Amino acid sequence: MKKLIYFFFAVAISICLSQPNLYAAGRMNVVATTTTLASIASEIAGDKIAISAIASPKQNIHFYAPTPKDVLRVKKADVFIHQGLDLEAWRQPLLDAAGNLRFLGEGKYSIDVSKGISLLEIPTTLSRAEGDIHIYGNPHYIGDPENAEIVASNIAEGLAAVEPENAAFFRKNAEEFNKRLDAKIKDWEARMAKFQGAPIVTYHRSWSYFVKRFGLTVVGEIEPKPGIPPTAKHIGELIGQIKGENAKVIIKEYFEENRTPKKIAAETGIRIVNLSQTVGGPEAAKDYVSLMEQNISLLEDALSGQKGQTV
Ligand SMILES: [Zn+2]
Repeated sequence: MKKLIYFFFAVAISICLSQPNLYAAGRMNVVATTTTLASIASEIAGDKIAISAIASPKQNIHFYAPTPKDVLRVKKADVFIHQGLDLEAWRQPLLDAAGNLRFLGEGKYSIDVSKGISLLEIPTTLSRAEGDIHIYGNPHYIGDPENAEIVASNIAEGLAAVEPENAAFFRKNAEEFNKRLDAKIKDWEARMAKFQGAPIVTYHRSWSYFVKRFGLTVVGEIEPKPGIPPTAKHIGELIGQIKGENAKVIIKEYFEENRTPKKIAAETGIRIVNLSQTVGGPEAAKDYVSLMEQNISLLEDALSGQKGQTV
């Protein structure tokens, strides 16, 4: 009898685990780590999913601290979408705390959108000895709109694996998203063409993919290493590099402090421009295309010397 009870119990559990369509609200409950991924997922899946993002777009994603509410959301989620690598350093602790069996290991319910991305700056040794937070390669690949197309396709394929009956719908929407982006990339490249090779400085090493796509040259960074705050010695050297290379613009994100960039600007005359890779970071950026459109526009103005914040 006891064996029989165990058997029924095991069958009940396996039915629960193998029935991805038994969603509480009648549609997939999807949680993405960032607002950018949530936005792309919602363009692909429309009302077939209920989507929410974990990290606030107003904060540094590397250092977001998940709340008990986030843990609960992941616990109840059917699908988890993330950027892979170590952009979300808090991802594994969050998954551990949520204890959702779907997201154990590499199963289909956990979608890593970095699949197929050509990574930049892959280190030769895996070490955080000096505080570097890019130990698997640069995780800010979403800054290149062509990578956003790979992300869109990965989300479509990931959702299709979970809900095959809607696969054609997800794939069609991803194709349309990518076509729209293709047209915008041509426009953005044309507008940036006159700034080819322009020397710039970035706060964090988060613009490598963006500058490669649009042909700019990074001559230095305010952080001596990704995630390490600037020192006086490093800033002194950077000021020398800015003067030597005649760099015109510092690219920083809204949430990064202004004190150091302003100090550098006061000594060199360099302009400061706030850009973002996070949908909803700037209020006007409601989706990926408007986010990048705003970045290109602000950068065009700053590089041509029309605008940009000066001290
Ligand atoms: Zn980073």
